[in-house]
Amino acid sequence: KSVLSAKSNIFAKIAAVANPVAEEPDKIASNISYHAQYSPHFSPFKFEPEQAFYATAESVRDRLIQQWNETYLHYHKSDPKQTYYLSMEYLQGRALTNAVGNLDIQDAYADALNKLGHELEEIVEQEKDAALGNGGLGRLASCFLDSMATLNLPAWGYGLRYRYGLFKQRFGKEGQEEIAEDWLEKFSPWEVVRHDIVFPVRFSGHVEVHPTGSRKWVGGEVVQALAYDVPIPGYKTKNTISLRIWEAKAGAEDFNLFQFNDGRYESAAQLHSRAQQICAVLYPGDATESGKLLRLKQQFFLCSASLQDIIFRFKERKDGKGLRQWSEFPTKVAVQLNDTHPTLAIPELMRLLMDDEGLGWDEAWDVTTRTISYTNHTVLPEALEKWSQTVLWKLLPRHMEIIEEIDKRFIAMIHTTQPELASKLSSMCILDDNPQKPVVRMANLCVVSSHTVNGVAQLHSDILKSELFADYVSIWPNKFQNKTNGITPRRWLRFCSPDLSHIITKWLKTDQWVTNLDLLTDLRQFADNADLQAEWDSAKMANKQRLAQYILQVTGISIDPNSLFDIQVKRIHEYKRQLLNILGVVYRYKYLKSISPEERKNTTPRTIMIGGKAFATYTNAKRIVKLVNDVGAVVNKDPDVKCYLKVVFVPNYNVSVAEKLIPGSELSQHISTAGMEASGTSNMKFVLNGCLIIGTLDGANIEIREEIGEDNFFVFGATADEVPRLCKERENGLFKPDPRFEEAKQFIRSGVFGSYDYNPLLESLEGNSGYGCGDYFLVGHDFPGYMDAQARVDEVYKDRKRWIKMSILSTAGSGKFSSDRTISQYGKFGKRSAAYHKLPPQSHLRLS
Ligand code: PLP
Repeated sequence: KSVLSAKSNIFAKIAAVANPVAEEPDKIASNISYHAQYSPHFSPFKFEPEQAFYATAESVRDRLIQQWNETYLHYHKSDPKQTYYLSMEYLQGRALTNAVGNLDIQDAYADALNKLGHELEEIVEQEKDAALGNGGLGRLASCFLDSMATLNLPAWGYGLRYRYGLFKQRFGKEGQEEIAEDWLEKFSPWEVVRHDIVFPVRFSGHVEVHPTGSRKWVGGEVVQALAYDVPIPGYKTKNTISLRIWEAKAGAEDFNLFQFNDGRYESAAQLHSRAQQICAVLYPGDATESGKLLRLKQQFFLCSASLQDIIFRFKERKDGKGLRQWSEFPTKVAVQLNDTHPTLAIPELMRLLMDDEGLGWDEAWDVTTRTISYTNHTVLPEALEKWSQTVLWKLLPRHMEIIEEIDKRFIAMIHTTQPELASKLSSMCILDDNPQKPVVRMANLCVVSSHTVNGVAQLHSDILKSELFADYVSIWPNKFQNKTNGITPRRWLRFCSPDLSHIITKWLKTDQWVTNLDLLTDLRQFADNADLQAEWDSAKMANKQRLAQYILQVTGISIDPNSLFDIQVKRIHEYKRQLLNILGVVYRYKYLKSISPEERKNTTPRTIMIGGKAFATYTNAKRIVKLVNDVGAVVNKDPDVKCYLKVVFVPNYNVSVAEKLIPGSELSQHISTAGMEASGTSNMKFVLNGCLIIGTLDGANIEIREEIGEDNFFVFGATADEVPRLCKERENGLFKPDPRFEEAKQFIRSGVFGSYDYNPLLESLEGNSGYGCGDYFLVGHDFPGYMDAQARVDEVYKDRKRWIKMSILSTAGSGKFSSDRTISQYGKFGKRSAAYHKLPPQSHLRLS
């Protein structure tokens, strides 16, 4: 009998005695005080905001743990098919507001904190962001966890417990500087270490062949993966799922006491230090061979620990039914790979099944391919992962044998079943045996080994089918799917913009939209209603005022809430074209200087905010950050224009900063070169908050425009199918730049914005920029269209009623972009391939 079921009664009794689920503020206040006193993290009798935060979080965690354990027990008994999301990144942000919001106890906690002399709004600001991700891909993973919990799905997230998450951005003379982000400086109140959940993960070593022919990976170095769990509560449901993040450790036996006593301290702790390196930082720089190796070790560490855990759970849940058949595995386990980063899960699952569990190749392959699915996030060639075969042979020799065998069998299959594709095999196969640099193409391995491959917006999925993976489509016509990304409406509207949320609830006469975002379409009928418009306007204005306060606090720059708040926040990348934005700003500044003070009065005052982090070694991205800062420094102190134009670089963009910026936005820029942004998710967050978009026909912009109506979207720029021709024309010297584009560049070159050498950056927009054709990202081509679209924005903004109506229609049209919808679509496909367990909404797990 399983330990869990035998002990479950005892657990139930304990839960009944120590019930932390009190709703009265007095009881909550005493629970918070209890934690402040008896959870010994700080000196006694201190109850400053910081101590209050930790005590409050621990009090909330008590409740989560109760639901969490119940959830675990429920699934342990009911044994549903579990979805496992493997991701190298989770951009969780802060958890307190989300936890009290999802548990629907925010008012009780606000009252309790009041009784203790604190404000909930102030306390939540004490929390450090958990930034275990870079940008959209990591934030998507976090939104998916929220949706899976809310939809009552039996799901787990697996990731890594990086000691330092995404760096903190600071500015020096030369521009951006990176500082380690110490999110665990004190501790995280949300994670629970599971000392009993530890798995060995091996690196290097060799393959032993037994006389029976079976193969075993032995030797090398073994580190331990220790589980830390973070509870993920669903919205108004008891379902509380886990994000399990792994930490790498070495054991006491790996510490060489003899060497230490001999004074050789470093070598005594060598394995400990190597283990610590694995989870030290998110995205170690990969310019060096050792950096690349470390990244690969991280990927394998995540895959191996997670799969061992998944297999352990599969076996554990056999309760009373005797030994399980391995063919049952895909009916109990679905593994979704978030991009190619966890691709090594494929050969690792094959290895565990064959070498540890004794399955033959065919059986292991059948189980693996029915279990794994893959989400592609990019078509940019430089972002498609390829790992050196040489490095892989050294680090993971058994896995390379398996990858070789998968490739061999794939090639044989093509020759026998689809000989017409034989000529395409050099690009379709997994191993690229180029003698100079033999590599494994991770995306190809994923396509060959997964039962489903999806893109993240319709355009992107179409491009996958027609270009990147076109050759595979005739082999597996049903394998390629689209699942347009989504965002959780809880964090990204209900909690970050409470005023607007209340207005929506009032006009829709229900708050059901929080879990059924399609209901927002009902707002359309009121878009012209003067009362709604007035309420909407004042909620947006309050959000703008709060944002202006924040900007003043973090930059010292005072911005006018009556100006148009125009925001572009995302990772800094040439394809996202922050350079197009800032060139437009430069042109606007020059224009404002050239007209009379009377004429200036007819222009639309703007505050342009740009924020985002540039990867530490991405020189051009760092130059763009510097340029924005330099332009701002000049423009903001120019007395001629300061009432009409402000330029702010918002420092250290992260999830909690996004939660302040997005509600206060009026216009947001999503202006990537068409075909290059797979989806984007911040575009969805902005429209949901009643922000208008200026954007290209790229990624999910296309679907957003369809949903909210063409009239409510400021579109410009080349389309994805025009891009190859335009690049060719540039290469052949046929491109004629717009005079405004030339003027803007010239203005920067003239030194108005300081003495920093911007020539290399500007040259990337001209001639041959090293990408094959100059201005690879077509900034010059799209510049005039962009300026014209911005002029349309200025005109429309003058008509307040029209603008507010468009804002209401933006929110009303964003129902499709709920991550609940995306997750349900993933679920539906799962149902077709194998039963996908979903608790009925009225199940006992739902609170109401
Ligand atoms: N970074 C953070 C902190 C975010 O919150 C988001 C999405 O909202 C992103 C990056 C991704 O932004 P985008 O979709 O514009 O690339």
